[in-house]
Amino acid sequence: MKSDPLHELRGVLASSKVWLREWIGEGSDVLPRHLPTAPRPSDDELVPDRTTRSIVTAAETLTLEAVRDDLGDCQRCGLCAGRTQIVFGDGNPDAKILFVGEGPGEQEDLRGLPFVGRAGELLTQMIEKGMGLSRSEVYICNIVKCRPPGNRTPLPDEVAACRPFLDAQIQAVKPRVIVTLGRPAASLLLGEEVAITRARGTWREYRGIPLMPTLHPAYVLRKYTAENRRNVWTDLQAALTRAR
Ligand code: SF4
Repeated sequence: MKSDPLHELRGVLASSKVWLREWIGEGSDVLPRHLPTAPRPSDDELVPDRTTRSIVTAAETLTLEAVRDDLGDCQRCGLCAGRTQIVFGDGNPDAKILFVGEGPGEQEDLRGLPFVGRAGELLTQMIEKGMGLSRSEVYICNIVKCRPPGNRTPLPDEVAACRPFLDAQIQAVKPRVIVTLGRPAASLLLGEEVAITRARGTWREYRGIPLMPTLHPAYVLRKYTAENRRNVWTDLQAALTRAR
């Protein structure tokens, strides 16, 4: 952060407004992409199993490397059978803003990075043009680290098996703000079934960390309206301001 954060913030907001005007005015002919939705697992299903419990209770010095090492060649749930590789997460280990999505898609599975398909390209635009940050300044991960077959909704036992690693990533990064992308991620972290179009834009909290639910970029691609784009932009600006 520069020495004059207020000045920097004004600059970011000014450039973001330019981008917003362009973005809202553009329109798009992008094709819809299926966005799976998941039922909220019960509290029992969210309890980590013994093989992963140690991660979420580890000391303050927990690092992403340690979390990744503990994950190893994970076979804790059935999603391991269909994956090309584990998609652990990407970005700054000291990020002030941490994004959480649902799970890897086809491109993510092939490349081993989260949000690198069409929805990922939009997320990158939102971060870079909308927030004035580079993608490498934030941290991006998913609830489950392996691609569900055909991009189906992760099953409750799969979510339960992988969740401790998400919690551990959050614990390691210690972000100032969490941004959840879409309904499943918001529902999981908030512990309740949310209607994302109503929940978005409202500050919540996860383990003492401010949490901003917003729309999944795949949803925005599917419903590429000025209202949805404006809503996401508003949510990200709120997250950026809070993180600073
Ligand atoms: S989804 Fe998570 S728990 Fe399941 S195999 Fe992959 S890394 Fe392991």
